Amino acid sequence: MVAFDAIRPVSAATFLVRNVTGLYTVEVARIFQPVDAQDVAEAIRGWPGKIAIGGGRYSMGGQTAIRLGLHIDMRSMNQLVWFKPESRCVRVQAGVRWRDLQSLIDSHDLAVKTMQSYSNFTVGGSVSVNVHGRYVGNGPICNSVRALQLVLADGSILEASRAQNTELFRAAIGGYGAIGVITEVELELAANVRMERTVQEVPLERYPEYFKAILSDKANILHNADLIPPLFNAPLAITWKTTSKPPTESGRLLPQGLTYPTEQNVIWALTELPFAENLQKDVVRPMRLSKPAVVWRNREASRDVAELEPRTRRFSTYALQEYFIPVRHFASFVKSLGSVLRQHNVEALNVSIRHAPADTLSMLPWAKEEVFCFVLYYKQRTTTTAMERVGRWTRELIELTLANEGRYYLPYQLHATQSQFDRAYPEAGSFRLLKKSIDPANKLSNAMWDTYL
Ligand SMILES: Cc1cc2nc3c(=O)[nH]c(=O)nc-3n(C[C@H](O)[C@H](O)[C@H](O)COP(=O)(O)OP(=O)(O)OC[C@H]3O[C@@H](n4cnc5c(N)ncnc54)[C@H](O)[C@@H]3O)c2cc1C
Repeated sequence: MVAFDAIRPVSAATFLVRNVTGLYTVEVARIFQPVDAQDVAEAIRGWPGKIAIGGGRYSMGGQTAIRLGLHIDMRSMNQLVWFKPESRCVRVQAGVRWRDLQSLIDSHDLAVKTMQSYSNFTVGGSVSVNVHGRYVGNGPICNSVRALQLVLADGSILEASRAQNTELFRAAIGGYGAIGVITEVELELAANVRMERTVQEVPLERYPEYFKAILSDKANILHNADLIPPLFNAPLAITWKTTSKPPTESGRLLPQGLTYPTEQNVIWALTELPFAENLQKDVVRPMRLSKPAVVWRNREASRDVAELEPRTRRFSTYALQEYFIPVRHFASFVKSLGSVLRQHNVEALNVSIRHAPADTLSMLPWAKEEVFCFVLYYKQRTTTTAMERVGRWTRELIELTLANEGRYYLPYQLHATQSQFDRAYPEAGSFRLLKKSIDPANKLSNAMWDTYL
């Protein structure tokens, strides 16, 4: 067993666990960087208090830390376990970032099957929130996870899959670190293909029908539709379809470490300048989307969140929210969403619409049935008053979502009330029971589970 003092600390300055927004920093007692499952198991057995797990730290409400607990920083567990290109399958340690995995599989003409729109996130963090991307028909990442290695709160190391420790497998995916530390992930991969972009304005009422046609064409790889302020009522549909045309952009992958001054200036202008709404509609969108584009799937999937990063997050910051709405409520939800955002003068940059089929695997599914996903990207000030104001309109949006039989996404700020959480995720009862049976002392927790579980 690792003695308390043998847990490798990093410098005292990092005893604050921050997330990407700069809000809700959590003070922890210790930070530990394991290199393998054995390390994790020994740390869990040796630590007397609460423990939380962090990946890329892009969740936004303290989901990666618990006050004065141990923070397990998974980013040092970033090795390949094995890779079988012929069967399109890979097993990695959970702290591997998508971008590193892409570097490995690209030369084998393979791509990640389902991931977010950016490549900075860790595989373990992505599985733990059960992420999705713009992939047509894929739904959440759980559909491409074959197996997990887990370390439970008693330090035991086990394998979980659809055939083995099934309940733990279902709960750990989308379990936000409450069930166990995910130390290894086995994933199905897809072919890396060239894709051509088409961009089309679609009348709001027609969008669900329009999307049905997109979904039925297996050559379509990525799709989303953007809504912009102030009306949020004119979807601009962007589809990437398999093609044999030559690429218009060089490079099979985007290089790492680029700086994005133009993108940063555009984001600043869109939220600070007068008439920014016209700027978005008349200048930014046409500039971005009018020229033909053919790229490799891996190139589009290797985008860096640095392109969204403002020069400072001191006075204001950018954040996300997401709402999952049954397909039948599409039009009514969009209309009410627009009016709530306008009524509260929310500094929204855009709302991106995606789609997911029902998730029949994970224990806390955000897509209980087929849904459209509404991703809201907005700017907010960092003062306490501004944070409270965001809390008020967020609760209003959650209420609207619940009235439309939908669910809200959990990796973002913790503005939901207990009642809203319970109504959005009625499966939390079974999740609690399982959690109690494997972690009666509630050792694995974080600011989110401390609030709602
Ligand atoms: C710019 C931006 C774009 C985004 N786009 C999308 C998108 O397109 N689709 C989408 O679905 N989401 C999106 N998100 C949300 C993002 O997917 C989640 O925040 C995700 O958790 C980030 O991964 P991470 O490695 O940073 O995880 P972290 O934030 O570090 O952790 C998330 C949760 O997982 C737990 N966890 C982390 N690693 C492990 C592990 N190894 N074992 C057990 N538990 C663990 C943590 O305790 C925490 O509760 C976006 C976020 C940002 C900031």
